[in-house]
Amino acid sequence: MAPSERRLSNRLAIEGGDPVRDQPLPWELPGAYYIDAEEKRLVNQVIDARSPFRFYGLDAQGMVDRLEAEWCSTFGHKHALGVNSGSSALHIALAAFGVGPGDEVLVPGYLWVSCLSAIVRTGAVPRLVDIDTTFCIDPDDLERKIGPHSKAVLTVNMSGAMGRNDRIAAICRKHDLRLLEDCAQAIGGRLNGRPAGSFGDIGIYSFQLNKNMTSGEGGLLVTEDEDLYKRCVALHDLGYARDEEGRLDPSDERYQFWGTGSRMSELSGAMALAQMRKVGMITERMRAAKWKIREAIKDIPGIALREIADPAGDTGPVLITIYPTADACQRFVDALKAEGVRGHEGSLTCITMREWGMHWYFNIPSLVKKRSNARDGFPWTHPANAFAAGYTYDKGSLPQCDSLSDRSALLTVASVLTDKDVDDIIAAFWKVGNAFASREKAAE
Ligand SMILES: *Cc1c(COP(=O)(O)O)cnc(C)c1O
Repeated sequence: MAPSERRLSNRLAIEGGDPVRDQPLPWELPGAYYIDAEEKRLVNQVIDARSPFRFYGLDAQGMVDRLEAEWCSTFGHKHALGVNSGSSALHIALAAFGVGPGDEVLVPGYLWVSCLSAIVRTGAVPRLVDIDTTFCIDPDDLERKIGPHSKAVLTVNMSGAMGRNDRIAAICRKHDLRLLEDCAQAIGGRLNGRPAGSFGDIGIYSFQLNKNMTSGEGGLLVTEDEDLYKRCVALHDLGYARDEEGRLDPSDERYQFWGTGSRMSELSGAMALAQMRKVGMITERMRAAKWKIREAIKDIPGIALREIADPAGDTGPVLITIYPTADACQRFVDALKAEGVRGHEGSLTCITMREWGMHWYFNIPSLVKKRSNARDGFPWTHPANAFAAGYTYDKGSLPQCDSLSDRSALLTVASVLTDKDVDDIIAAFWKVGNAFASREKAAE
């Protein structure tokens, strides 16, 4: 074919045509791109003071204290506690609720493995709840699943956006259940003006590398409840409060536990402080790019989009598209990738949800096989958990999760997309969508 003819071709790249683009899209690491002199300045301050521990030191700089205080004033919470990871924060929160053997914690089937790990390590049992087209807990299924052993709900604001947290919170109040809100993937998100993390008794965040802001490792939890806060403080540390000098203080019997060793270091605190000051800008960039793409592709035949309860509160790192069948989904994604809508080797930029690993309950071997860290099978074998002996976690347990995981695809929206990247993505969606639609029409 002559070059001039090739340029005019609408032929799909997957069938030998020219791709829309040939450069990989950037890595999906939102905060990492914005690490600069400010992080360096604050981290160096800790190093220059030779004081990397938050509670005392040669010249402690109070970085974690500042992070907590600024988090509260920025997002409107009463108490914040820096910890060493989102996973730790989940476990500490459930322990602070007093969750343990004999309890079940209701949790969506689209989640992250840490949510289940936290439940199982308290000695409680996970009870799966289906999702709806928000890709978060379906409040109707939540009400159906609540039973005599239900103690808490762990709702997960997945893939950058919040679910129907107002309804979920109302259901929890009605049934006297504790609500834990996992905002690891939705830092800076809002629902009808209320920030992610303010709907539950405790909200948790993660600062791991893939999240909206990062300190490499790190996390934080928020609560409006003084007693829960004090429990979390003791639990995240060595099981006791600290006095004014930062020394362990076992004097208050109400706050004597077994600690989890989850303190945040001043180095992480310094980095997280610099990043949190940028997170509004980072999420606004992702949100703007994502919604430009969403608006532009919404009328492509054969594509539906994830329902976003509050578009203004979406943080934007992920665009989810839904297809009529698993086969249609796979064909569309393969064709998009061939058009150049893909990341660097090994990235998860453009994939079907079937490839999305431990975000789906049935892909988590330790859950499906009821694994234990102990020889005796705890907590599955605990007598108080006998009520849950018949619970199974294989695929087939949650119809909406099963269907949406088969038929949906995911495009990560990097925080540094250029206008050209965005235009290329839109052009590729239309090119593939048009080609498939006209083919279907011809087959009719
Ligand atoms: C990342 C993540 C966590 C865990 O955070 P870590 O800091 O990696 O321990 C928990 N829940 C969700 C939904 C996450 O995406």
